[in-house]
Amino acid sequence: DHKATVIDGKAVAHTIRSEVADEVRQLSQKYGKVPGLAVVIVGHRKDSQSYVSMKRKACAEVGIKSFDINLPEQVSEAELISKVHELNANPDVHGILVQLPLPKHVNEEKVLGEISLEKDVDGFHPLNIGKLAMKGREPLFLPCTPKAIYFEALFLEQGCLELLSRSGISIKGKKAVVVGRSNIVGLPVSLLLLKEDATVTIVHSRTKEPEKIIREADIVIAAAGQANMIQGSWIKSGAAVIDVGTNAVDDRTKKSGYRLVGDVDFKEASKVAGWITPVPGGVGPMTVAMLLKNTVDGAKRVIEQ
Ligand code: NDP
Repeated sequence: DHKATVIDGKAVAHTIRSEVADEVRQLSQKYGKVPGLAVVIVGHRKDSQSYVSMKRKACAEVGIKSFDINLPEQVSEAELISKVHELNANPDVHGILVQLPLPKHVNEEKVLGEISLEKDVDGFHPLNIGKLAMKGREPLFLPCTPKAIYFEALFLEQGCLELLSRSGISIKGKKAVVVGRSNIVGLPVSLLLLKEDATVTIVHSRTKEPEKIIREADIVIAAAGQANMIQGSWIKSGAAVIDVGTNAVDDRTKKSGYRLVGDVDFKEASKVAGWITPVPGGVGPMTVAMLLKNTVDGAKRVIEQ
């Protein structure tokens, strides 16, 4: 019986985090400076709160100083923007993250567009995304989830941890299918894979017969947010499957009453795929690691100048 290699995102993330911790230590020894990340959260959404506390905790673990900015649900757009400006001007802050979604009365695009390009560690500034889309241009920061997926794709291709030495392995010439086209995952990951010379097809909610397209893929990126949508029979034998989907489904055997599943039917897909990432424990932990990495890279750019 065939069994896909399961990529342990937690273990890869752990490696990256210890590399980041080393870099933080070096910066502090050499320049007496510590990278700083400002995490801005508006309101009390439970999911946002838990993402933010995870990010803050991860910062603390690697020695990045986190600046916690908690604003009330009713904060005005002008107040939020002036907070962003204040952080832009603060030399101890090297990265600024505004947790999404923002309340409806605030224009998200406008706020993200105010973050200094040099501190845009989430990579959501329209100019950073634009540069990702353009040939011959490089964004200052890659958005964290696409970057995490990219690292995992390299990992899958190489099949070993060596990829983390970024030894110029590529996704060149591979057929990649991305399921989903959101601004934060599907679209930027498609652009990134295209930049890496994959042949990219994007499947979305209006795509007809997605299974026919997915069956052709050497690399499948699932980011639709639909529990178990992609069946085992849709996967080409030996394909690399990266499941970004994080869906809560009812489970009465759990204390919380739910469990998390991906967009891919993991059990069936594992029988055909060459490599697969689990949910949870795949892309999620890698995304947080990439945020830390972006923050330290941003800090290095400024401090070493
Ligand atoms: P969105 O809801 O913003 O986007 C979903 C995308 O999937 C849309 O482009 C939509 O198409 C497409 N889609 C929805 N249903 C189908 C379908 N049946 N067939 C094909 N395409 C479909 O979600 P996000 O991009 O924000 O997140 C996607 C998933 O990834 C979620 O489960 C989320 O929880 C998870 N996530 C995980 C992260 C991590 O682990 N690091 C980080 C961020 C997200 P259309 O554009 O036509 O509406």
